[in-house]
Amino acid sequence: MALIVQKYGGTSVGSVERILAVAEKVKSWHDRGNQVVVVVSAMSGETNRLIELARQIDPDPSPREMDVLLSTGEQVTIALLAMALHRLGVDARSYTGGQVHIRTDSAHSKARIMDIDGTRVRADLEAGRVVVVAGFQGVDENGAITTLGRGGSDTTAVAMAAALKADECQIYTDVDGVYTTDPRVEPKARRLERITFEEMLEMASSGSKVLQIRSVEFAGKYNVPLRVLSSFEEGEGTLITLDEEDDVEQAKISGIAFSRDEAKLTIRGVPDHPGVAYQILGPIGEANIEVDMIVQNIGKDGTTDFTFTVHRNDLPRALEILKKTADELGAREVESDDKIVKIALVGVGMRSHAGIASTMFKALADEQINIQMISTSEIKVSVIVDEKYLELAVRTLHDAFGLDAEN
Ligand code: ADP
Ligand code: ASP
Ligand code: MG
Repeated sequence: MALIVQKYGGTSVGSVERILAVAEKVKSWHDRGNQVVVVVSAMSGETNRLIELARQIDPDPSPREMDVLLSTGEQVTIALLAMALHRLGVDARSYTGGQVHIRTDSAHSKARIMDIDGTRVRADLEAGRVVVVAGFQGVDENGAITTLGRGGSDTTAVAMAAALKADECQIYTDVDGVYTTDPRVEPKARRLERITFEEMLEMASSGSKVLQIRSVEFAGKYNVPLRVLSSFEEGEGTLITLDEEDDVEQAKISGIAFSRDEAKLTIRGVPDHPGVAYQILGPIGEANIEVDMIVQNIGKDGTTDFTFTVHRNDLPRALEILKKTADELGAREVESDDKIVKIALVGVGMRSHAGIASTMFKALADEQINIQMISTSEIKVSVIVDEKYLELAVRTLHDAFGLDAEN
């Protein structure tokens, strides 16, 4: 007998028929003698619909009330799934995040899970029940409802699995595993049988939304066996593992991630002296805006040009701050561009293979794709290019690194 945590995403519970199909699937795991905890997302489109309703009342609504609103999506699906299980004769109980004490900090809309009290869930499992838990939500120490950021049900599932010491955490979604790149952009993408936590973390933080970043962090930290599978077809899916395979033939690159959520800011002609980087980025950091890539160029005339990227949603605020800084520092000009994307090659195989970056740059050059910024880490090379090249660049690199599926 195993303890399994399963998570079903928005598309997988997107209609009554699909909720009934999920119930069948859960029942079959339960019938085989497993203890099953199910975490569900809101029905697909529901979270966006709720956000839109709020915007019609206030473009900048109270974060506390926003979380009260958004958490309702998942409350609908837990109840419907529990009913669907009852219809199949399975004893099941649904719980909101607060009811199973998913305690978070108070950072509304991006709260972090601090602690889960598994007592109630364990008691239900011991009594032979299936437990259905609302994803994406928790409560802070004052009892206020919080949400965990978009895609946060993944993190609820992994955190539940860690708290209950589950044998496996299964993420059921609308693809049958983690692919070499988003199959919606490159139909030749191939399913990976395994990928390391480290690679998955780089893929997720470079824009692959198949798993929320925090869920991968959590799984790596607590060593939760994690698998991504299809809700609609049988299959092994993709296992996210701790160890790298000792395969000499190991691929140089495991996957290609991309993000459309990027924007770039440049400040030119800044008098160059120690502390300039701090003076430029300090106020951005104080405004809680995350900076991703940074490039600094030194000019001959004793000035410097400084470029950095932020999340596209943060561009208006970042630009306002940077203009103020430019006045204070006597810089020549400030520019911004939100028509850019980031593309990243990821693979632990990079550690033992040279020349990855140059192969990447050549492949892009052959297609006349201009690279605007570059950054590298031990297992990743990322570039910024014009957004109109996204599909072409991803497909070109997919082919250049031999990732295309055979046939
Ligand atoms: P869910 O609603 O089940 O949480 P998501 O939409 O969050 O599903 O994640 C699944 C989607 O992630 C897929 O439909 C796919 O388009 C996208 N995706 C992006 N990168 C990848 C990748 N490397 N492998 C698989 N899917 C990916
Ligand atoms: N319903 C939330 C969202 O759409 C959480 C999730 O689906 O994981 O982001
Ligand atoms: Mg998701």
